[in-house]
Amino acid sequence: MTDQLSEIAANLAQVRRRIEKAAAAAGRQAPEVTLTAVTKQQPPAAVDAALAAGQRVFGENRVQEAQERWEGRRAAVPDLELRLIGPLQSNKTADALALFDVIETVDRPKLAKAIAEAVARGARAPKVFIQVNTGEEPQKAGVSPAEADGFIAFCREGCELKVHGLMCIPPADEEPAMHFALLARIAARNRLAQLSMGMSGDYETAIRFGATHVRVGSALFGARQHHVAS
Ligand SMILES: *Cc1c(COP(=O)(O)O)cnc(C)c1O
Repeated sequence: MTDQLSEIAANLAQVRRRIEKAAAAAGRQAPEVTLTAVTKQQPPAAVDAALAAGQRVFGENRVQEAQERWEGRRAAVPDLELRLIGPLQSNKTADALALFDVIETVDRPKLAKAIAEAVARGARAPKVFIQVNTGEEPQKAGVSPAEADGFIAFCREGCELKVHGLMCIPPADEEPAMHFALLARIAARNRLAQLSMGMSGDYETAIRFGATHVRVGSALFGARQHHVAS
């Protein structure tokens, strides 16, 4: 237990150092890059170790699992930021908005409308990121690059959502850099300042291409407890 605590603290310190170095190498300031610690499928002790080490921004990919993990912890950590980085079914929108500060995976009109309607009914307005399927993989969520501009406009004007940025998960078997560059281009032409891109294996590359949020799981916490397909 104590070992795990100090190991996670050491991993966090190392990832933060590497973020600083990558930012400096790209001529950027380290505070421009936020580390999102991805706690999906990690045991409670790992989550508590990260909190004890001062980590405050966390990513989860399933609403129900996140509720189980965070509902009891939220009240004790007022400056916590929870980010949904996995697919959201529109019928789970109310639950998601009750828990998450940021929804990174808005990718279709039905979901954007469901969020707007929940907010109109009094739900807390989330920060919205649009997920872009930069690799146009049929099994992967996200709006296609060609439809991104139109969908961003729909979210902003049709739904009055506050769109903060874009998110992508590059194909596992391709060089991620071109996907990061594509996401950055789509963000720039839509005047979006934030980019959630880069995971344990490629967050330094993502920072080079302008990532403002890197989503790191296994490099902090080790292997997850169950295998998941995506
Ligand atoms: C699991 C997950 C991550 C973290 O992946 P690691 O390779 O463990 O860092 C990042 N982003 C998303 C969307 C994920 O589902």
